[in-house]
Amino acid sequence: MPFTSLGLSEPICRALSDLGYSKPTSIQTRAIPVVLQGEDVIATAQTGTGKTASFVLPLLEAFQAKEPMRGKRVRCLILSPTRELAEQLHKSIQQYARYCDQNSMVMVGGVDSGPQKEALIKGVDFLVATPGRLIDLLHQRALYLDELEALVIDEADKMLDMGFIDDINRIIDRAPEDRQSLLFSATMPPPVRQLAKSTMYRPKEISIDAQHRGADTVEQWLVAVDKDTKSALLSHLIKENDWQQGLIFIETKHGAAKLAEQLGKRGIEAEAFHSGKSQASRERALEEFKAGKLPFLIATGIAARGLDIEALPRVINYDLPYDSDEFIHRIGRTGRAGAKGEAISLLSRDDFKNLCAIESRLGHIIERREIEGFTPRKEVPISILNYQPKNKAKAKPKPRKDRTSKQSADLKSVSKGRDKSRKSVWSKGPSAEVSSQNEPAYKKHDSKKPGLEKPEPDKPKSKNPKSKKPFNPWLK
Ligand code: AMP
Repeated sequence: MPFTSLGLSEPICRALSDLGYSKPTSIQTRAIPVVLQGEDVIATAQTGTGKTASFVLPLLEAFQAKEPMRGKRVRCLILSPTRELAEQLHKSIQQYARYCDQNSMVMVGGVDSGPQKEALIKGVDFLVATPGRLIDLLHQRALYLDELEALVIDEADKMLDMGFIDDINRIIDRAPEDRQSLLFSATMPPPVRQLAKSTMYRPKEISIDAQHRGADTVEQWLVAVDKDTKSALLSHLIKENDWQQGLIFIETKHGAAKLAEQLGKRGIEAEAFHSGKSQASRERALEEFKAGKLPFLIATGIAARGLDIEALPRVINYDLPYDSDEFIHRIGRTGRAGAKGEAISLLSRDDFKNLCAIESRLGHIIERREIEGFTPRKEVPISILNYQPKNKAKAKPKPRKDRTSKQSADLKSVSKGRDKSRKSVWSKGPSAEVSSQNEPAYKKHDSKKPGLEKPEPDKPKSKNPKSKKPFNPWLK
């Protein structure tokens, strides 16, 4: 399919042809028409899939006939977690906009802000920014977001891992509600979904790679086993297969400590890695693991978030996570950059529901292997694809006006301790705890955290006709 059939005009197609792009990538084919229609989009796509062009090209197209921006105003803001990514995004925009009459600039910290302020004076079509510097310059009134037409949050999972949630909310507070919002993320853990839920309107969901992530390079298999023989099975697998290294995921801190002890007794060196351990001891364990001195690290999913270990040969799910995104995130720790990897899951009867959710998400049944001597007493059935957790299956469309109350109810249950200075419930996402303790941004049903204050009623009617459309059920 040529780029022209996606609705892109000649100057843009010419720039693509200069770059040697002959046809759109899969994310481009799926996202470009949707973005062109002005819809909000939430996309699971990693760097390397062509995701930058998937949002830049249609926005360039949509902005073609528009008047130049007023001074200090921005048409499209692209938020990036890191300076390097911001620079890379900016470079891509320049390439794609080569024959278009639209300007772009990058705004990152660590450099003199003077030239950035100057460049803002004439108004900007595409601004690529890291949150910190952007907030600095917003405070200095070097720019305003009141005429923003599109907001892109790139690498949203990384943004949240890096603790940018409050900054993102502050930025969104200053943008008009009728903007178009696009969110891209390599993984879709609950805090990212929550961010989308609180900041987007009826987003279309596009998923590239996540479902098949690792499929080419990660060999996935599982063993059904009784819960009380899991540690014996793991020791057996390690010894029989002569595994030299592995990252073991487990649900609880207590479980991690116990397993480390059990493996130790069988002569297998392993260390627990969770948020209950001191920072110093975690750092040391991680260093040793990375250097290959420590063969096995037993991590709770939360503590292991963002762990980037080069050439990790395998991950072992001692327990299956409740969240299928978390599973995908875990297996993505191995088989990086085309290297071969292995993802093994130990499956007891208790894990069955989680297995159904995971295999439905993957779209296929994971290969099962039988290990002699470990046949389970409690059989684990083959899972049902297209399994839907009860609460999702029941979701029904609701009118948009219900969104505030529904959303506030959700938020009440998940995130407490709202910053009182915030303007509206829309501006709120999970709290900044995301990165501070390596704990999740929120825990469902966590009753210990302080309550959200009552959300304000809907803001005055937005000029965006989208606001009259019914609410999207997928958000629930
Ligand atoms: P991204 O995922 O946006 O970081 O893009 C990854 C790489 O793919 C970049 O080097 C792009 O220049 C390149 N790329 C993006 N779209 C296409 C395409 N349709 N055909 C060939 N290369 C592309």
